[in-house]
Amino acid sequence: MSQPAPDLDAYLSAARRAVTLAARVTRAVQQSMGPDGLRSGALSKADDSPVTIADFAAQAVVARTLVHALGPIRLVGEESARYLRDPAHAAALAACVEAASPVWPGVRADELLATIDLGAPEIRSGPAGAPGGPDSFWTLDPIDGTKGFIRGHQYSVCLAYIHRGVPVVAALACPNLSPDFERPFEDPDPRGLTFLATADGPARVVPADDETATPKAIERPAAIPGSIRMVGSYTASHSNESMSTRVVRALEASGVRVERPRRVDSQVKYAVVARGQADVFLRTPRSAVYRENIWDHAAGSLIAQRAGCLATDVLGVGLDFGRGLALEGNSGILCGPAGPHGLVVEAVRAVSRG
Ligand SMILES: [Mg+2]
Repeated sequence: MSQPAPDLDAYLSAARRAVTLAARVTRAVQQSMGPDGLRSGALSKADDSPVTIADFAAQAVVARTLVHALGPIRLVGEESARYLRDPAHAAALAACVEAASPVWPGVRADELLATIDLGAPEIRSGPAGAPGGPDSFWTLDPIDGTKGFIRGHQYSVCLAYIHRGVPVVAALACPNLSPDFERPFEDPDPRGLTFLATADGPARVVPADDETATPKAIERPAAIPGSIRMVGSYTASHSNESMSTRVVRALEASGVRVERPRRVDSQVKYAVVARGQADVFLRTPRSAVYRENIWDHAAGSLIAQRAGCLATDVLGVGLDFGRGLALEGNSGILCGPAGPHGLVVEAVRAVSRG
């Protein structure tokens, strides 16, 4: 059965509204935290990955906003409501309801739980009536960079629509990212930025707190030949640091000047490369078997591509979002404009050959 192409503009406008409302919620939670993150509602899921009440509230707000705008949807989110459904976690559930209520007046706990679970990752098949086939769906990381969020640093709300295995709509809210390239990443901007893209237009940017501002196309300055400014993960274990070091040495040995990586949490890295603040985001594979989750890359990679960059794995292979919850066909991540991207692919190949 042929799938009708999605209405990209309608989807983008729903996605922009969804991440704007979610960012309002996450910002309020982050601002209510102590400097050590202790009042963030930081919780620990069974697998020990950090999560906060803001992750859950943001997923609910995004799901609800998309359904309001578009009707039934298929959504693959990072979170499920399982933790909050445990009676032992009633206080966390109440805190989530309170966090969501400024943008969802009168929300009840049962509605919040059901709406979070519209995007529960373990639920693969969408509701009857959702448009597209099983390979067309929204994917959401309600807070990418939860550790950065708890620290009071950078994080992002990342939403993309994947059509037949390819991201075609992206909305990436970076509530703490400044338009000023000189502002340290650790110093949160009062307004933040939201990056937007569809597969048929340029990447654009708007203030994160303004639902009505006209998006401006990103004009990425050209990279300086022979020199690469890198951006990497704040959390070293997200990549293979010794391999990254060997790649940098191989680049330097071939005469490329490499600037030490700036560190920033989450898909903010894609935005930083897309707007020309850095040339390359390199994530070397942390192990031979580890695969990246689709919601950690779908929105950011489309935005960077529509700003004139390539977003591939470390060997230059295109990212394949059509193989389930993870990028099963890819190893690590490499994003940047063609010149620097090509140099890094060569360096990775040289390092892999030993
Ligand atoms: Mg997350």
